[in-house]
Amino acid sequence: MKYKHIFFDLDHTLWDFDANAEESLTELYGYFRLESMAIGSFSQFYQIYLNHNKLLWSRYEKGYISVEELKWRRMWRTLLDFKIADEKLAKDMSEYFLQLLPTKKKVFDYTYEILEYLTDKNYSLHLITNGFEKTQRLKLNSSDLLKYFTHIVTSECSNSVKPKKEIFEFALNKAKCKNEEGIMIGDNPEADIFGALNAGMDAVFVNYTNEKCDTFPTYTIKNLKELETIL
Ligand SMILES: [Mg+2]
Repeated sequence: MKYKHIFFDLDHTLWDFDANAEESLTELYGYFRLESMAIGSFSQFYQIYLNHNKLLWSRYEKGYISVEELKWRRMWRTLLDFKIADEKLAKDMSEYFLQLLPTKKKVFDYTYEILEYLTDKNYSLHLITNGFEKTQRLKLNSSDLLKYFTHIVTSECSNSVKPKKEIFEFALNKAKCKNEEGIMIGDNPEADIFGALNAGMDAVFVNYTNEKCDTFPTYTIKNLKELETIL
């Protein structure tokens, strides 16, 4: 077989980040009594948070802001939209959220099935993720995914960030894998697909949301089960 090592992205590919974040933010919204602070309904709060989070993640991935800034500024900016300028509250919310989120367990359909299938076929499985080291490990523990992976490469441990070449090279090195023997599987056209191709690997675009992908993935799939047709 062509591939020996399979590198997965974690968030939005295996671990259902959005569902888990929504569940955590619902609890956060209650815990900090945000409704009583004229913040309105949860769904208003949530939509505004999502916008800021997306913007700040892309700034982080481009190297414009640090991890620490990303963590609390998404709460800070959300509160500001509701005319609440409370840095302490933003930082408390950030801490609460980051503690709660990784305890959530929701994964995408076929996650366990496909990891079992690939393990049975003797592929080595690894993760390449832009998340935080401690957070990602907690998620893997909570969702019982840790046991499937040999190497877990995060931005923190590799000192790089997808789509930069270095994080993929770091992962290939760790796995003792040649570029052509590895394949990256992820949901993000830029971070996962462009990044992997740029590092000389093939890449599978997991397109749950019917997104346009102009970074030329080697394969595109709509759910994880379809990996059985490739691997
Ligand atoms: Mg992802």
